[in-house]
Parts: sequence; C-alpha cells; structure tokens
Amino acid sequence: MTGKYAVPLRRLYIRLLLAVSIPLILVSTTLLPMLHVHMETRIDSLHAEAKAVLKVGQEALTRDINESLNYALAIAEMPALRRYLDAQHASLLTEPHYSLSELAQLSNFLDTLISHYPRYTKLVLIDNQGYEVLRAPQSAETGPRVAANQHAKTDYFIEASKLLPRDLYISPPGHNLQYELFGDDVIPVVNVSTPIFSATGERQGVVLLSLNWNYLTTALYQSMRLDQRADAVLVDAQGRWLLNSATTLTLGAVNFGGSFASLAPRYWQAMQQRNEGNATVDNHLLRFQTEDIRTQSYRSLAGNIFSEPSHYPWKLGVVLPQPSWRTLLDEETIVLWFLLLTYAVAVAFGIFWAISGQRQRQLRQAAQRHAIEVSDLYENAPCGYHSLDKNGRVVKMNRTELNWLGYSADEVIDRIDYRELITPETRHQFDQAFENVLQHQKGSAECSLRTRSGEQRHVMIQASAYHRNERFVHSRATVFDLTERKQLEEKLRAQAMTDPLTGVFNRRYLQSQATIEMARARRHNQPIALITIDIDHFKQINDDYGHDAGDEVLKNFTRVVAELLRQEDLLCRVGGEEFAILLPNTTLTQATQVAERIRQTVALNAVNITEASLEKTLWLTASLGVTALLNNEKSLKAALKRADIGLYQAKEGGRNRVIVNSSL
Ligand code: GH3
Ligand code: MG
Ligand code: MG
Repeated sequence: MTGKYAVPLRRLYIRLLLAVSIPLILVSTTLLPMLHVHMETRIDSLHAEAKAVLKVGQEALTRDINESLNYALAIAEMPALRRYLDAQHASLLTEPHYSLSELAQLSNFLDTLISHYPRYTKLVLIDNQGYEVLRAPQSAETGPRVAANQHAKTDYFIEASKLLPRDLYISPPGHNLQYELFGDDVIPVVNVSTPIFSATGERQGVVLLSLNWNYLTTALYQSMRLDQRADAVLVDAQGRWLLNSATTLTLGAVNFGGSFASLAPRYWQAMQQRNEGNATVDNHLLRFQTEDIRTQSYRSLAGNIFSEPSHYPWKLGVVLPQPSWRTLLDEETIVLWFLLLTYAVAVAFGIFWAISGQRQRQLRQAAQRHAIEVSDLYENAPCGYHSLDKNGRVVKMNRTELNWLGYSADEVIDRIDYRELITPETRHQFDQAFENVLQHQKGSAECSLRTRSGEQRHVMIQASAYHRNERFVHSRATVFDLTERKQLEEKLRAQAMTDPLTGVFNRRYLQSQATIEMARARRHNQPIALITIDIDHFKQINDDYGHDAGDEVLKNFTRVVAELLRQEDLLCRVGGEEFAILLPNTTLTQATQVAERIRQTVALNAVNITEASLEKTLWLTASLGVTALLNNEKSLKAALKRADIGLYQAKEGGRNRVIVNSSL
C-alpha cells in the first residue's frame, strides 16, 4: 500500500468500525433492556411458580400426614380393640374371656381394613409387656397372634407406653431404616404408635401402625411434579432424604434415608441458613420452607406428637431451572430475529454511510482539484477576464489583465470603475458596449487601456451579462490584447520578408515588391533599374577564416551597401553572397553610378574580422551587373537574368567591376 492511499484507507477502516460498532451499541442499548424485562418477568413468574408448587406440596403433605395420624387415632380408639386387650389381660391373669370366633372376626376386619387401604402396611397390637397380641395382616405362620415379647425394646413401644391418650409417637422417617414387603414391592415404612386406654383410664397397651411412606410421599411428589421441570425436596433436620427413592432432575439419584446433605451440599447449605426463602444454586431456583409435623397444623385430632427431636423440623423445597439468556432467546425467537434484523439493517446503513462518505470525499477532492484547475485557467488565461457590477465597478479581474494593467487585485477590485482604465479617446466605445450588455445581454468594443506606467494597450472587449433568478448580477468580459497580436503579426511579416542573417530583404520580398514597383513605374512612367552583386572569391574567405567570419563579412557588406542607397531602394539578399538592388525612379545611368559607387566603397573599405581571437583585416571586392526594367515587363525574372549576365561578364572580365547590360 502506498502512502497516498494509506490515510484514506485507514479512515475507511475507522468508518467501517464505527458503522459496525455504533449500531451494535445503539441496538443493544435499546433492545437489551427489553430482553432484560422479559427475563425479569420470567424470573418473577418462576418465583410465583415455585411458591405455588411449594404450597401445593405443603398442602399434600399436611393432608396426608393428617389423614394418616387421624386414622391411627381412630384405630386406637376402636372399642373392639380395647375389648380384645381387656380379654387378653384377663386371660393372662385368669382364663380366656375372648372366644376364638370373636378373634377371627376382629382379625379379618383389621386385615380387610389394612389391605384395602394402602396408607398402612401393618397394624400390631401390643400389650403392656411388649407382647404382640394381634397383627394385621395376619402372619402366615402364627396367625393373628405372635405372643412374643419382641416389641418391648422398640422405640415405638417404649415411647408410646409413656404417652397420654390421643398422643402419638412417630419413629423418625429414614432413621433406623425400615423396609417391608408390600405386595410385590419393598417399600419404606415409618412406625406410628399410640397408647390404648380402657374406658376406666387404665393403660392397656400400644397400637403400632406402619405407615406406607411410599404412598405418602408419592402423593406429595406427584402433586409437586405437576410442573415437569420442578423437583421436589423433602429432608429432615439431619439432611436425610425423606421422599421415596427417586431420580431427581437436577440433584441426581437419591434413596429414602440417603444423605441429601452430601449429595447436594450447596442446596443443603442454602436451606440450613434460614427457615424459609429462596436461593439460586447452579442456575436453579430453590424455594424452601420449614415443616414440622409435630405442630398443630399436622397433628389435627391428635394430642401431641412425639418423635426424635433432632430430626425436626423438616425442610420442604422445590427446585426449578432458572431461565437463562440462551433459553430466553430460544423461546423468544421473534425478538431474536427482530434484534438481528435491526442490527443487520443498522450495520448495512452504517456501511453504506462509510462507503458513500469515502466516495463523497473522493468527489470533493476531485471537485477541489477541478476548481483549482479552473481558477488557474481563469487567472492565467492568455486573455484578460473581468466582471463588472451594474455601475461598471470592477468586482473581479484575472491575473493576466492585472499584469497588463500593472495593478494588484487590491488596487482594482471594488475600487475603480473599469471605464477609468480606458483612454478618453476610446471611452465612448466602451460606454456603448457596456450599455448593450445591460440592455441586450451582450456587447463588445475595441478600445485602448492605459496601463499604470502610462502605456497603451489596444484591446477587444467582449462581454455578456450574468443573471441569477432573472436579475443582473454582473457582466463577464473577455479581453483580447490586440497590441500583442499586432506586434506578433508585424514580427511575422517582417520575418517572412527579411533575411535573418543580414536583416535586408529576401528574394521573396523582392519578387512581390518588384511587381508593385513595376506597376507604379508604369503608372507614373518612371524608370526603374536593377543591380545584382556577387562578392568575389567569397569561398576563399570561408576557407581561410571559417564560416563565422564569412557571416561577419556578409553582414558588414550589407551595412556598407545599405548606407549608399536611398530610402526607397530595395536591397535584397538573393543567394549566399549574392544581392540584388531594385532602384525605383532610377535610370540605367543613375543605377550604373550607384553600382560603381558600391564597387568602389566595398573595395576601399577593409573589413575587420576576429579569427582564433586575433583581429584581422581583410579586403573585399564585388562584381556587379546593372540593367534597366522595361516598361512592358510584368515580372522581374527577365531583368534579373540580364543583370546576372552583366555580373557574369564582370566576373569573366576579372571581377571587381560593373557591367551594364541593357540589351534584351
Ligand atoms: P567568385 O569570385 O567566382 O564569385 O568566387 P566565389 O568563391 O565567391 O564563388 P562561389 O559562388 O563558388 O562561392 C560562394 C561561396 O559562398 C560558397 C559558399 O560556401 C559561400 N556562402 C554562401 N552562403 C553563405 C553564407 O550565408 N555564409 C557564409 N559564411 N558563406 C556562404
Ligand atoms: Mg556566387
Ligand atoms: Mg562570389
């Protein structure tokens, strides 16, 4: 890249950069806030959704726990169970009070109750000593009664044995994990126990109901998974996962009782800090709240609920993916296309602007160059230009005319009337022409300008009127200098008729002038004569002293001869060292005298020449032929021939002589 183009190209690059970046900034600052509002709206609705899902979850949990506990209480208060326990108590002390058919009836009833209602997996009736006295569904081996003291050391028996009527004990879910075969499935269970009292208020035993945790949490899970993207979270105070085994969307696989705290430590950490609230973890929104089933809203008809205190309260939460810019743009394709289209249009305009700016600058530069050229042409034209206002005052004048006049622009423009520059003798022509311009748009005049130094210049002025909106603005004139032209013409004419070396007339002039003189001579009946001259041994001069010396001799010769002639005599150089003289109003005799005088003068006048820086003197002679022009002769041709014959004879006769040849 050459230096000439480096700057414009760099400017183009900068413009292109602006063309791309400015629309980007403008479009971004306009449209990004719009997208931002979209995003905010989405985040707001996400929060609202999380709140709603959490509420649904809480309601499902409350309802299920409520129903499960109320059910446990209802069973515990069944009179048939109390009676059966009474009978068991009595029979242990004395004899059986309870018939086998009654037992079968109760057992079948409980079996039906449990198996038709999937909320519980089993019901066990335990006496005060921890002996199991009835079980539903009944065991295949032992029937409805196991009668073993296998419950005495269990938490549900020990804790429930201490409780008041309508109080409940719940072994903490996930703690001492218990699974049971339920139908074909192995499912997690949670033990719920409550004491049974007789009508008289005697403690009769404990009823254990194993809660089908799967059933309970599935309802919760499903209610919260109404939104396919939502993940439900239920953990105890130790960070144990309380839902049935599930593969969550974002947290990975976790089983009932598994450690949520170690599976998703960041979620767990966020949930531990507050009782309820929101947290953003890994581009997901977590909303959570504390749930304690021991509180009134859960226990409903129950008196108090007891459990392992360190496992409460629970945390119920929902996890929803946060909207990202990518998903936003994926979904808001119209906005995205609009954004891209707007940007593309803006960039296209920008590029158009950059390129057209470049083109405009090129045009401007070309126009400037053009203007300079025009101005140069105007200022330095070979003719004068000027403009005059309607009063004839100079408003503009080019340098050429100023130079002719010898003034500077400051001295003329807006200072003087043009007519002041014109000689008084020719002013009238100018005034007339200027009037014509004002009246008829055009005018011209030949007049003389007086220059500052007092010289005159003969000029031709051609002017026309310049109008704008049909109003005269000023006249525009072109000024041709006729002086120069005339001088040139004269110079050319002189050049055409003179011999450049000697300055005397040439053969062509002799011919043309002879015709005129011969006509005049005829008209006035005057004699006219012709002399021809040839310098003797001229070649020798060239040979001896060089061509320049020869030239010098020729010039000297013409000077000498011219001095001997009258004004009207025409001395011409017709060849190398050959001359002819036309002598108007001269007789042959007079001409012969002139010739003789020439011969003598030439022969008597030594010529000084310089050869190799040495002054030399040299003597010269010439031979001459003389003749008279005849009255009836139309051209010089014959007379020249006659004179030349005389000249030839003079040469023949020994040179340095004049021979008159008057014969035809
Ligand atoms: P003659 O006496 O017979 O006239 O002898 P000449 O030497 O003068 O005769 P010729 O015509 O043979 O020679 C003329 C010479 O003039 C030849 C030429 O070199 C010379 N001559 C012609 N024109 C010029 C000129 O313009 N300048 C110079 N220096 N010499 C010229
Ligand atoms: Mg000669
Ligand atoms: Mg000669």
